[in-house]
Amino acid sequence: LSQLFRPLDLLGMVYRTIRQGVLDMGAMFDLVDTPSEVIDPKGAPPLAVGRGHVRFENVRFGYDAGQPILKGIDLDIPAGATLAVVGPSGAGKSTLARLMYRFYDLTGGRITIDGQDIAQVTQASLRAAIGIVPQDTVLFNDTIGYNIAYGREGAGRAEIETAARGAAIAGFIERQPLGYETRVGERGLKLSGGEKQRVAIARTLLKNPPILILDEATSALDSRTEGEILDTLQAIEQGRTTIVIAHRLSTVVHADEIVVLEAGEVKERGTHAELLRQDGLYAEMWNRQAQERAEEALAAE
Ligand code: ATP
Repeated sequence: LSQLFRPLDLLGMVYRTIRQGVLDMGAMFDLVDTPSEVIDPKGAPPLAVGRGHVRFENVRFGYDAGQPILKGIDLDIPAGATLAVVGPSGAGKSTLARLMYRFYDLTGGRITIDGQDIAQVTQASLRAAIGIVPQDTVLFNDTIGYNIAYGREGAGRAEIETAARGAAIAGFIERQPLGYETRVGERGLKLSGGEKQRVAIARTLLKNPPILILDEATSALDSRTEGEILDTLQAIEQGRTTIVIAHRLSTVVHADEIVVLEAGEVKERGTHAELLRQDGLYAEMWNRQAQERAEEALAAE
């Protein structure tokens, strides 16, 4: 009987691995539905990545025909700069990130990286140039070392350890009796939201992409962990073109440009100081969050 079960068990393992691979991709962008077919144009060349100058030119998109979600978005992110996207829930912030990764094709306009339309190059080369730190990282039921190495096939131990140090999770790993061989995930060590996000940061450091998308999840973290993660994130943003999808405005103060998205349109744009002076939507959001922070601080006393 055990002979019969062994292949079944193996099959189950393969299934779980595949399922988790899919979950991991899905979790990247909360993809519940399957994206529509995105196909490489015949003979498409790979993206020739330079320093990572990203442009959105009159980008229009809707998941369903006749229901526009993005209504003509223009963005210009110079190589190495950080753009923060803020705005109410459902404004289309995550959709911008999904389009950049070309999970969907646009209904109008174009997105370029170093002057090349992302729809005209291979998806593999496009995705190799972009690193994503998702809101919620799903880990594989494997060792923590494997989970970090997933950022780049063939990474050696020394590189994995350097990435873990960069993501400020090396100390935590070294404190485990089995170190990098510690199993994590459902059937192993349970990691906190902050620790999981550090694994995602370490993966991204290993991948070392010129372009970075951070889908911020600080709402689930306590303020000390949030502070530590923010420091780490600021370190990995150095020298990369970064798009931060931000929920807490305290994290976007240093962005080179902040875009306020509402119902698929850019309503305001500028630096933190400029937007406060405009005294519009951003200033209103800032004041509301400042008040919430003050109330939280009072409650904690
Ligand atoms: P949040 O801050 O809540 O994450 P968001 O600004 O990132 O919101 P998006 O996730 O980009 O918003 O969603 C924008 C709009 O597109 C919403 O109205 C949402 O319901 C819709 N939408 C998102 N994903 C899909 C999908 N796969 N199919 C159809 N509609 C979708």
